[in-house]
Amino acid sequence: MTETNQMQDAIRQSEQAFRSLAENSPDFIIRYDLEDRIRYLNANLIRMLGIGGAEEFLGQRPREAWPDGRYAPIEAASARARASGEPQRLELLVPAGAGKVEYHHLLVVPERDAAGTIVGTLMFGRDITEVRETEQRLRHFIDSIPGIAFTFRRDADGKFSFPYVSHAIREIYGLEPEDVRTDFSALHDLAHPDDRPVIEATIAESARTMTPYRLESRVCRPGMPERWLDTRAVPERQPDGSLLWYGLMLDVTDRKRAEETLRKRERELHHLAENSPDNIVSYDDEGRVRYLNSKLERELGKTLAELEGRKIGELFPDGRFAEIETTMLRAIRQGEVGPVVLPVAIDGQDIRHHQIRAIPERDETGRIIGALAFGSDVTEIIRLQEAVAVREQEFRALVEHSPDTIARFDRDCRRTYANPALLSSCGPEADRLLGTTPTEFPGGEWEQRYEEALRGVLASGAATDFSSSRHDTGGRIVHRLIRLTPERDRSGMVTSVLAVGRDITELMEQREKIHSLAFFDFVTGLANRALFNDRLAQSITDARWHATQLGVLLLDLDRFKAVNDTLGHNVGDALLREAGARLSRCVRDYDTVARLGGDEFAVLLPEIRDAQSLSGVADKILVAFAEPFLLDGREVAVGASIGIAVYPNDSEDADGLLKFADLAMYAAKHAGGQGFRYYTAEFTIQAHERLRIETELRHAVERRELELYFQPKVTMTDGRLIGSEALLRWKSSAFGMVMPDRFIGIAEDTGLIVDIGAWVLREACAAARAWNAAGVPHKVAVNLSPRQFADGSLEERIAEALSATGCRPEWIELEITESLLLENAERVRGTLEALRAMGFSIAIDDFGTGYSALSYLTNLPIDVLKIDRSFVKDMMSYASKAELVRTIIAMANSLSMHLVAEGVETEEQARFLLDNGCVVGQGYLYGKPMPKHELRVDTGDA
Ligand code: C2E
Ligand code: CA
Ligand code: CA
Repeated sequence: MTETNQMQDAIRQSEQAFRSLAENSPDFIIRYDLEDRIRYLNANLIRMLGIGGAEEFLGQRPREAWPDGRYAPIEAASARARASGEPQRLELLVPAGAGKVEYHHLLVVPERDAAGTIVGTLMFGRDITEVRETEQRLRHFIDSIPGIAFTFRRDADGKFSFPYVSHAIREIYGLEPEDVRTDFSALHDLAHPDDRPVIEATIAESARTMTPYRLESRVCRPGMPERWLDTRAVPERQPDGSLLWYGLMLDVTDRKRAEETLRKRERELHHLAENSPDNIVSYDDEGRVRYLNSKLERELGKTLAELEGRKIGELFPDGRFAEIETTMLRAIRQGEVGPVVLPVAIDGQDIRHHQIRAIPERDETGRIIGALAFGSDVTEIIRLQEAVAVREQEFRALVEHSPDTIARFDRDCRRTYANPALLSSCGPEADRLLGTTPTEFPGGEWEQRYEEALRGVLASGAATDFSSSRHDTGGRIVHRLIRLTPERDRSGMVTSVLAVGRDITELMEQREKIHSLAFFDFVTGLANRALFNDRLAQSITDARWHATQLGVLLLDLDRFKAVNDTLGHNVGDALLREAGARLSRCVRDYDTVARLGGDEFAVLLPEIRDAQSLSGVADKILVAFAEPFLLDGREVAVGASIGIAVYPNDSEDADGLLKFADLAMYAAKHAGGQGFRYYTAEFTIQAHERLRIETELRHAVERRELELYFQPKVTMTDGRLIGSEALLRWKSSAFGMVMPDRFIGIAEDTGLIVDIGAWVLREACAAARAWNAAGVPHKVAVNLSPRQFADGSLEERIAEALSATGCRPEWIELEITESLLLENAERVRGTLEALRAMGFSIAIDDFGTGYSALSYLTNLPIDVLKIDRSFVKDMMSYASKAELVRTIIAMANSLSMHLVAEGVETEEQARFLLDNGCVVGQGYLYGKPMPKHELRVDTGDA
């Protein structure tokens, strides 16, 4: 082999080696000649260019092969490499289609031959797009992280610096990377003073152990809020003996604050949970205990440490909390929330009831990560509720069985409840009660008012009573008192009204009875005095208003007392009833007839035409009363006296009217009865006079103002004086001579008659004794008042008079009136018999005017009948009176009684009396009453 051959071999061999290297290189390789014409493309480049082979590029310059000039810089680099003999580096941005670019890193190297002569250039290209893009992403990343990426260096002398620090240093520290490139102190000085020693120690430790460090520290920039940095760095020893840390400082201020808040919140929650009156447990999603508050710890007698991480079932295998566990698991699985009340048995204690509520706990994504269970002991509440339920049951029973009707109305006055009593009172329509208002059902005028009352209670909140009177299903009137009571909610607002109705029918009837007892006369059924007064007052008010007149009429039965005493109370009552009935028939419907008491009746006549019209009424009444009453099978003449007073003429008030009517009636009575009188002022004057008389009369005896006159009694055949009647005269220093008609009545009314009568007896006895002692028989008649009998001391007083005067009983005749006989028959009879037994003779005065019960004539010790002077006076004019006189005379004769005719004034009368058998007479014809000394008894020539 020649040297050349050897050389060529060597070249071939090296060429081969290059080829095989170039063909397998991951780089793309191009070989250029000295004119930059392409001499070779490796397989990788052909693949990259996507061409079939190298042929079409061979011999071309880059500028020719890629007319867009993308590789044009290669020619310049190639020229520089050839000129300098140095490799040239360049980076090209190459379009890669579809808008993409690729980074190509190119190395252009001069190619030498064996002698070292440059024969061309070799270009090695590499696609570094990925590297560049990674770099870019990294930069973006570093720029986007909330912190600083850095390299931190400690050189061999122990000096610290930041060779690299990302731009975020500006934002976080307010520094430029240059400020810390050679010295870290500008940055270190901004660390919180407390943190600096920690930072230094941590770095020293990392350097010593060559382990990564991590620390949290604070940055304090003047005038800026404190920031937290979380620094992590990995150390690496450098060949020059320095240490380099690669690291990140992350701004974790927000997280730190959140943590702080969280911790605070947690502390609060913990505090809450620990102080909660409830039992609180927190479970994880498997039902393991995570937390329980100390209240529950105490109650269970176990600590959180003992229970944490365990399931209830494991802790209490006896299953006593199985239900609680199920509830909690349900909350975890289904998100269900209680509350449920469960029995809880804790060792050695009674079963308690806990109300348990389980709430699922969720993380931010809403996933259930556990459950919170709250439990509270509601045993007492349940007990109370049970008690309330029992109570309610009791009340319900009461309400349901109550005889009262009970309804509840809502704010619209609709019934929301009706008890059975109410329902049954409504009959078949009861089902319409609920939900309706009273005006809707049953509706009506009363319901209208009732609903108004309900609304009133709803508005005012004040209870009220409402009364109802309606027919029940049986047609009976039922009275109800309905009490309406407001019901309020907790805020005090009236929400409903309770209506309790009570049947007060019986009460009302009772009340009516009482009312009638209070206002009506029991015997006659007429109004009583109270009711009369009431109506009178009312009528006066009306009359005043309408300027009308009204009349008050008082009526007194002339002979009631006599009937009552002789015939008994039952007959007396019958008389009163009949009298009332007659009276009622005589007046208008709207007049009020009342019995004021005893035999006194009153009639109120409102709205009369005039006062005169009342005389018509009075006449009518008198006619009705003139008719005999049929009592106990016999006819009895009673008669009445009527007094009339008129509003406003006589008086404008009730008392005045009654008083004046009474005076008028008194006048009518004193006028002889069976008549009426209007009130006149005269009566008042008389009433006053009566009072004055009474006052004076009290002193009449002691002042010796009384005197006895004597009226002769004669046999009319011959005019012979056989006796006299003692008649009282009062020679008053105040009034002058006063006749007995004016004062005897008053003396009787006041009882003065007893003393006066005693005086009369003594005087009469004295006179009788004087006359008889003279030898001429002379009987003195003495008038006795019924009051003297009532006194009870009559016999005694008469005996006194006899013994005081020496008079004998046979010289005295006692005159009594018929009315006396009617009063207290038995006692009077006793007295009369005693007097008779003493030797007195007894005469009945005014015979024929009184009550014509003849029975007493035969039963009582009576010697003489004195025919009343009214008969004598009228007997010549009226046949009826003449007949009556004849009857009296006949009767006296048949009973062997003596007769005296009173008031004989004419011979004619004397003749008639004599013709009919009455011999003894007394009257003006024979002599008026005269003083004692004027009566000439001694001789027979009167
Ligand atoms: P009397 O007992 O019926 O008395 C008869 C009265 O008739 C006397 O009135 C007498 O004056 C009157 N009189 C007699 N004759 C005639 C006559 O012809 N024509 C008329 N028009 N009247 C005649 P006097 O004295 O005024 O007495 C009135 C009444 O007073 C008596 O009625 C008697 O009831 C009563 N009285 C009088 N004195 C007493 C007495 O001492 N005690 C009692 N208790 N009553 C007496
Ligand atoms: Ca007499
Ligand atoms: Ca008489």
